[in-house]
This record gives sequence, C-alpha cells and structure tokens, in this order.
Amino acid sequence: MGIFNGAQQAIATKINKTSTLSNWNDWKWQLKNSISTVEQFETLTGISFSTSEKEKLRKTTEKFPLSITPYYASLISKENYEHDPVFKQSFANIQELNVLDTDLADPLSEDSDSPEEGITHRYPDRVLFHVSNVCAMYCRHCTRKRKVGDIDFVPSKEQLQKGIDYIKRTPQVRDVLLSGGDPFMLPDSKIDWLLAQLTAIPHVEVVRIGTRMPVVLPYRITDDLVKILKKYQPLWINTHFNHPREITTSAKEALTKLADGGFPLGNQSVLLANVNDCPRIIKNLVHKLVQNRVRPYYLYQCDLSEGLSHFRTPIGKGIEIMESLIGHTSGFARPTYVIDAPGGGGKIPVMPNYIISWSTHKVVLRNYEGVITTYKEPNHYENIFCDRDCENCTLDLKLEGSEEIEALGIERLLADSNDSISLIPENNERYNRREE
Ligand SMILES: *Cc1c(COP(=O)(O)O)cnc(C)c1O
Repeated sequence: MGIFNGAQQAIATKINKTSTLSNWNDWKWQLKNSISTVEQFETLTGISFSTSEKEKLRKTTEKFPLSITPYYASLISKENYEHDPVFKQSFANIQELNVLDTDLADPLSEDSDSPEEGITHRYPDRVLFHVSNVCAMYCRHCTRKRKVGDIDFVPSKEQLQKGIDYIKRTPQVRDVLLSGGDPFMLPDSKIDWLLAQLTAIPHVEVVRIGTRMPVVLPYRITDDLVKILKKYQPLWINTHFNHPREITTSAKEALTKLADGGFPLGNQSVLLANVNDCPRIIKNLVHKLVQNRVRPYYLYQCDLSEGLSHFRTPIGKGIEIMESLIGHTSGFARPTYVIDAPGGGGKIPVMPNYIISWSTHKVVLRNYEGVITTYKEPNHYENIFCDRDCENCTLDLKLEGSEEIEALGIERLLADSNDSISLIPENNERYNRREE
C-alpha cells in the first residue's frame, strides 16, 4: 500500500524478528504489540535513557501506565525526540508526578454527575456514555488520567445495558455521545449490538462517537467497521488530532473511509504547551483537517487533572490562537475554543472581544484587521412577547409534538416568560440574612 517508511520497517522487523511486514496494517497485531514499558520503547525506537532517568520513568508509568501503538511510535523523530509532539503526547514524563494543590482528580466532576454506571448526564438533552476504559494509546494529557488502566476492561453487555436502560428511561436525551476510553476498542460485534440498541430508542435522534483511532491506530478503521457503522445513520464521529504531523498517509486513508461512509467528521484538539501552542501549528492543523473533510470542532483549554501542569498554557495563548484564525481563514476551519468548567459546569466558549462599545442605537465593533466599524441598530423593532405559548404565536413555528423545556440559567433571565431577575449562588450570606 506504499505506506511503510523506514521507521515503520525498523519497528516491524524488531517485533516480528523478520522483515516480513504483512501484519503492520492489522490493528489487532498493533494492539498486541503495543509498547507498555520503557525498555520496549528503547528497543523499538532506538531512543535510550540513563539508568536514573529510567528509574524515575518507572515510577511515572507505575502511576500512569504507558501504551503506544507501534504505528504511533513510528511517527516519533528519533533525532529530535525531546521536542517531538508525538513523543510528548505518548511517552511518560516525570513531571506527571508533580501534583499541584490546585490540580483535581476529577476536574469535570464526571463522577458526581453520573446517575448510572458509565453515564455522565450534565446537559439537559445529551449524555456522555463511557463504553470502554481502554485506549489504543494512553495520551499523557488525558483528562481521565485517574481512570487510565485502572481496570483494563472492556465492559460486558450487562454493564453496558445499565447505561442503555438509563437512556431508555430518560426521554429528554436526544443525543448520545459514546466515549471512554475509546469506543472502537470494542470488538465489531459489540459495537454493532450497542448501536442497534441505542438507535432503537425512539427519543435518541443522534449518536456520536469520540475516538482517537484515526490518529493513533488508523488501521482500526476497517471496511468491516465502516459497513457496521453505516447501518446506524445519523452517526457523527469526532476524532482528536493535535498536531499536523499526525495527519499521515494512513490517517488520511482512515479519514477517507469514514467520510466516504457518510459520517460527518469533527476534530477536538487540546491546547498543549510545547506541543501545539502556536498559531501557525494550529492553522496548519486545521487546514489539513478540512482538506481531509474533518471540521475542527473544539480546541480545549487543558483541564486541571492531576499531573498535567507541564502541559498547561495560559488561556491567553488560546485567545491568541483564535485571534489568528478568526477572519484570517475559512470559518469552517475554525474550532470553538472552550474551557471545560472545573466542577462540572460544561464547556464554556471563549474568544477575543469584538464588541468595543454600544449605545441605544449603535454598536461599535472591530474586525480581525483592527478596522473599527459601527452597526446601526433598527430604529423600530417590536419585540414579540414570548410566553412560550407556541400554539398562539404569530411566528410560523408550530412545532408538532415538541416538548417545552423550561428556560435555564442565563437563557431564563433573558426570557419574557419568566419573572426571575437574578441567579443567586447557594449560601449567599446576604440572602441568608434576609431569610433570618
Ligand atoms: C462535551 C460533553 C458533551 C457534549 O457537549 P457538546 O458541546 O454538545 O459537544 C456532553 N456531555 C458531557 C459530560 C461532555 O463533557
């Protein structure tokens, strides 16, 4: 297939102890031969560490296990490995053992928002369903680092059934996001079964899969897998490329299979210090993604999980990157920069400010070039009072059978149909005094 390069050839030869390469494209072979120790890494890549370094690395991998597919390891540049984005994302760093006072084991409170094993129900209409606890490669920047390799398990049907049952009895769930671990670590037959179960639930309108396989093990995207997935449209697939170097010939082939299969593809990147914290790297990445029919979806600020401090950038770096994209490149090549709220508030979008000032009839804005402009607001605009009674509304929006959900949060403060004038934090002393 012309996808082998010298590095892949060298690694495969060392694993097979012969130069026959027939199994390199076999994803099960890749998993079976994944690198899980520093010694294996040394042997296969030819990169070596001193005895004292190895001792510290051993302590690190005891706490946070190592797993790198031979394919992903083959992308590491041996000469310059210390600065290599693939190396940094996949190989242990002793700084992972530095836990800051401000680090959190479960920064997104996924466990507290879990009504059922495997389910995180945070937003009104969608759930995160953790369907596996394993990945082909253990990202060093994983937000669920606390769980990695905890119990290396692929859940049984009985365990998955609990999550399915929760979704069945929760009619407001219209969007199910399969994550993990990596859902594509499940065998084809279980993926088939799971998707059949989920798509048979009448209120489930879409299913999404979050997977890093196209990046770390593109051979997992087989024709057989695509054939199974095609039965369950609409199915959205999000992957996780962080650096243009990851978009290889094999990765492109995997993305082509998925795009040709008819799945809308998105990408979620994490902003990582010394990996991709550069406007030019991100711009190059998003351009390569859209060339491969992948829409950049989110750019994440690095979470406050334990052991990630060396990966974190200030939020200002993300704003700077967004500044370099907005207006400068195609709108569809631009992700939304988000901070996943510590404590479980969900994703908060942030971007540079474009509104400079405002009066009753004019808004002053600036564009990406620094041009300051005004938008004149309408002189006459009559607001349609909305009491959420769609039946008697003058707008043509009689949504049949749509279930009215109460306005929430800031949306509620803005709504006509509600007389809330403020949102008050729990245990606000001033309000407690009023009650006394
Ligand atoms: C990210 C996430 C979702 C999906 O959020 P979208 O903004 O719709 O992509 C759902 N549930 C949880 C818990 C999440 O972290």
